[in-house]
Amino acid sequence: MPIDFRPAWMNGELETYRDTVSRFIESEMLPDDEAARARGHVGHALWRRAGELGLLCSDIPEAWGGGGGDFRHEAVFYDQMARRGLTGMSPSVHSIVAHYLLNHGTEAQKRSYLPRLARGELVGAIAMTEPGAGSDLQGIRTRAERRGDHYVINGSKTFISNGFLAGLVLVVAKTDPAQGARGTSILIVETEGAAGYRVGRVLDKIGLKAQDTSELFFDDVTVPAENLLGGEAGRGFAQLMSDLPYERTIIGVLAVAAMEGAYEATLDYVRSRTAFGRPVAEFQNTKFRLAEIATVTKVGRTFVDRCVAELVAGTLDTATASMVKLWASEQQCKVIDECVQLHGGYGYMNEYLVARMYADARVQRIYGGTNEIMKEVISRAL
Ligand SMILES: Cc1cc2nc3c(=O)[nH]c(=O)nc-3n(C[C@H](O)[C@H](O)[C@H](O)COP(=O)(O)OP(=O)(O)OC[C@H]3O[C@@H](n4cnc5c(N)ncnc54)[C@H](O)[C@@H]3O)c2cc1C
Repeated sequence: MPIDFRPAWMNGELETYRDTVSRFIESEMLPDDEAARARGHVGHALWRRAGELGLLCSDIPEAWGGGGGDFRHEAVFYDQMARRGLTGMSPSVHSIVAHYLLNHGTEAQKRSYLPRLARGELVGAIAMTEPGAGSDLQGIRTRAERRGDHYVINGSKTFISNGFLAGLVLVVAKTDPAQGARGTSILIVETEGAAGYRVGRVLDKIGLKAQDTSELFFDDVTVPAENLLGGEAGRGFAQLMSDLPYERTIIGVLAVAAMEGAYEATLDYVRSRTAFGRPVAEFQNTKFRLAEIATVTKVGRTFVDRCVAELVAGTLDTATASMVKLWASEQQCKVIDECVQLHGGYGYMNEYLVARMYADARVQRIYGGTNEIMKEVISRAL
């Protein structure tokens, strides 16, 4: 019997949902992937289509235009893309944005933005990182200055996922530079027609070729004071911290799905490739490597499943979420490296899934808080 990586939380309803997701991916995402990789973005039409099918904001309550499901529905979407090596659309960042609004936004903010995010009319991005500050977010320099009933934003952000297509950007900025962390807030910026807002380059990355990771520039961008997330200045860091378990579990979900996808692709490959008169699959080294990969992947699946269940139950703590981000992303890089090796030279060719996955995997140890920062966070709980 083949190894079963099925998530422990999968049920009939989620399987039906997964079939809808995979039909969308196979018929609308995969055929455009090569072109999206060349363009550096997937385009707005795909986002709107995902919205029409109810695939965006699936764990946001229906009252706010979402799907009314829970994180397992989100996980199904991320899983189905990651196992196929599709990384252009980042519905996870989109969903993180929706959750900041859901968890911290005012009634008016939720009403105004959540339904449009769910429909894919607005693509969401969160802009924390700056050229001079990433891990140490207290060092950000972007300023949001209160002038009467407006805030005026000045600064620049970099490495922003969904940045090129974003219609709604949550901008982390200093509202009171003298107050340190307590002087940081999150501003909601609708980008269309926003004077002084400029998207820089879609950044040239070693992987995630279809993902529109971009620089963003704010030059006297003026937003009404009611665009302060939650309506109270100085809450930015607390808001960022409270949503971390959600973001880190996503990285674990993506990692284990990519490991499963790479394992399956490699199994198929070594069975069909021959060397020295027999399938590569028959060498003891190949069998042992694949046995190790399957074992690590199953362990990863088990840990990720537990985190998903705890996240849904609202009991996932920050240290455990940091562990899943740390461990799963490290294992993803190791496993996919082995899968490349088992493909020989073809594993280095971009037309092969494992080659693209190899380049895509590397950033998992960097974004969402680097793995060194994960160790810092975990060590605080020792
Ligand atoms: C593809 C991609 C997508 C991204 N998407 C987004 C996004 O949507 N929004 C966003 O805001 N940001 C995004 N980022 C930015 C990402 O979160 C940062 O790159 C990351 O947090 C690290 O920050 P940095 O690049 O400034 O590195 P630095 O903070 O300068 O770190 C450099 C090195 O120093 C180490 N280091 C730093 N502090 C410590 C410490 N205390 N102890 C030990 N080691 C330490 C780091 O681990 C790293 O190895 C993205 C990045 C990439 C590459």
